[in-house]
Amino acid sequence: MQNIVDSIYQEMRSRTDRGKVANYIPQLACVDPNQFALTVVTPEGKVYSAGCADTLFSIQSISKVFTLTMALGKLGDALWARVGREPSGDPFNSIVQLEHESGIPRNPFINAGAIAIADAIMGHNEPKESLAEILHFVRFVANDESISIDEKVAQSEMMTGSRNASLAHFMASFERLENPVEKVLGTYFHHCSISMTTEQLAKAGLFLVSNGTNQSTGSRVVPEHRARRINSLMLMCGHYDGSGEFAYRVGLPGKSGVGGGILAIAPGKASIAVWSPGLDKIGNSKLGTEALEMLVHETGWSIFGH
Ligand code: GLN
Repeated sequence: MQNIVDSIYQEMRSRTDRGKVANYIPQLACVDPNQFALTVVTPEGKVYSAGCADTLFSIQSISKVFTLTMALGKLGDALWARVGREPSGDPFNSIVQLEHESGIPRNPFINAGAIAIADAIMGHNEPKESLAEILHFVRFVANDESISIDEKVAQSEMMTGSRNASLAHFMASFERLENPVEKVLGTYFHHCSISMTTEQLAKAGLFLVSNGTNQSTGSRVVPEHRARRINSLMLMCGHYDGSGEFAYRVGLPGKSGVGGGILAIAPGKASIAVWSPGLDKIGNSKLGTEALEMLVHETGWSIFGH
């Protein structure tokens, strides 16, 4: 496995077309696009890394996997009255479907859906309390107390977040949010601004590899059926309007973020985190996707067969 991971890293190092770093969040625009990291962790917790696997990056929308998991834990199936579970076929920050669908977002991973999930997690708590709870959960699943929020990224998003504010206000106009828009956005922007390394992120995904249990720590995180369903949502919706393409090329449940990270789950086999800041036109890591494509080719891990 280490040879495979090393060879993917060597191949990616030589690539010149690395995509474009997200620039709508100023703090992300200044990240060096020439970075690459890949970590594969097996169910028992054996780690194979290459590149800058201990460099922190902004996990952005990958945090939505963890907030969805928490929201399902809190609300159970009642959550599905507030957000759907169909692929959107639209960009991550699109507002068009929201009007037709009366303010109920298509799925938990597009921005509108994740904002609805943040609202659900909050209950009637303040953003500070909810964020403490989210961080606590992410640290628990990653088994790493050092994980934290990059306040500079959060502030940067807050200053430029007109689109997300529009989505939230639009949902509020349909009375779909229980908390004031500003508080929900504060929670949302901050959980998107969690920083992690590929090693931490891959470890955080382990519970989705082994039917809801992190085998390396022995902790059960979610019941079996819930892990299976979260994986199915990642497969269908985790890459927005690029989800079909990702399933075709990689064939694993995956979640991307505009920081250039991707978390991919090979059920029963491994949790994989890859990071390269340059994005394709849809907003998914360009080299990250290519690296996963190579990894699946080498390992035969696609859920659809060799
Ligand atoms: N925080 C980002 C936003 O709201 C997340 C988007 C993403 O990672 N795709 O725009």
